[in-house]
Amino acid sequence: MNSATRIGNRVCFNTVILDRFSNTLRGKGIASLASLSETHQLLYKTCRDFAEGELKPIAAKTDREKLFPKKQIEEMGALGLMAICAPENVGGTGLDYMSYAIAAEEISRCCASAGTIMCVHNIYINAIHNFGNDKQKEEFLRPYTDGKNIASFSLSEPGLGSDASAVTTKATKNGSVYTINGTKSWTTNGVESKALIVFATTDKSKKHKGISSFLLKKNIPGLSLGKKENKLGIRGTSTCNLIFENCNVPEENVLGELGKGFNYAMITLDAGRIGIAAQACGIAQAALELAVDYASKRVAFGAPITRLQTIQNKISKMAVNVETARLLTWRAASLKDAKTPHTKEAAMAKLVASEAATFNAHQCIQVLGGMGYTSDMPAERYYRDARITEIYEGTSEIQNIVIAANIFKERGL
Ligand SMILES: Cc1cc2nc3c(=O)[nH]c(=O)nc-3n(C[C@H](O)[C@H](O)[C@H](O)COP(=O)(O)OP(=O)(O)OC[C@H]3O[C@@H](n4cnc5c(N)ncnc54)[C@H](O)[C@@H]3O)c2cc1C
Repeated sequence: MNSATRIGNRVCFNTVILDRFSNTLRGKGIASLASLSETHQLLYKTCRDFAEGELKPIAAKTDREKLFPKKQIEEMGALGLMAICAPENVGGTGLDYMSYAIAAEEISRCCASAGTIMCVHNIYINAIHNFGNDKQKEEFLRPYTDGKNIASFSLSEPGLGSDASAVTTKATKNGSVYTINGTKSWTTNGVESKALIVFATTDKSKKHKGISSFLLKKNIPGLSLGKKENKLGIRGTSTCNLIFENCNVPEENVLGELGKGFNYAMITLDAGRIGIAAQACGIAQAALELAVDYASKRVAFGAPITRLQTIQNKISKMAVNVETARLLTWRAASLKDAKTPHTKEAAMAKLVASEAATFNAHQCIQVLGGMGYTSDMPAERYYRDARITEIYEGTSEIQNIVIAANIFKERGL
């Protein structure tokens, strides 16, 4: 990790800011953050300032008008947030997964759509960093680090989501190309992305061992954009079907080894779940802060409603939720950074954090009463945005299966 004055190769600060910041943290009682390294605290401060200044003001309009926050995503690229964990020699920021978790939380706290765009893009980057060769990194990673070129990760299909091993999109070898046919669904950043990783089977009889991953540019002949979904939340993101009709992809665009695509997807999503957990922490934190702020100003029966024990119980539960979720998320990130197994812990973090986000957003609306139900306040947006964190990158039911399976495995069962 870098010194106190550097975050990756992008952002410089001095220790005066750090001192001032540490005092701010103590003043606000965000105890868990005070235990972070200087670099992580500086990253936190960078992301919080950016999100407060650039994302919070546009979040409601982004949601209401379903706008892709292009300018803000480019600024996030300039900050190093679009290729956080890729090394500097391929254009990345060279930070760790703890940094990824901190950044994803702070961005999502102000705009969950921006958080989703960032997380999915970083999944693409991480997969190429982990499994790509040098040529692929030059062509498909380096140009995608600055926030100007966005990418997608396309695994799901209309007939499958949880059962990702059942991929039906076919890749047939014809000389030096693979011809892809089929439909992928739910592709985040589908409209804006310029490149993607797509998973297709080269041999259905081999089940998950027949699945391979392919790198391709979105403007390749034979690939067209299908339906864009109209969603409950994260409405600043595009989610689309991608239709492949005799789409010829050069064989050198197979990512890693043929037949390893399913493994790569699972490994990539293990780390991706840390990002979604962090996103959920951001939404849960935002809901808590809004509830506390509103309750301190709202007077009922002659006193602020913060005096009511029933409100205090809600605030307490929300605060415990967000701290629990954050600690689990940071634990999973630390394990990943230590290169130790983290599948179970990432699933636990995503499960707990996504439920915390949904619970906190629900309770936030309740604390705000009628105002919580209107779009004049962000509580209803938090409620809608929170819901996706229980679904994508594995539903809560799938996280429970992953956790239980790992517990049985640890016990040799
Ligand atoms: C907004 C959005 C963005 C997305 N972005 C992407 C993306 O960028 N790339 C991508 O590849 N995919 C993406 N997805 C797809 C997402 O990962 C899937 O929707 C998710 O994995 C669930 O799959 P499904 O929708 O097919 O539900 P299903 O698998 O059909 O599940 C339906 C229900 O059955 C339950 N269920 C299924 N199997 C089991 C089981 N074995 N045990 C217990 N319960 C089970 C599920 O938990 C769920 O409650 C996105 C989805 C959404 C909504």
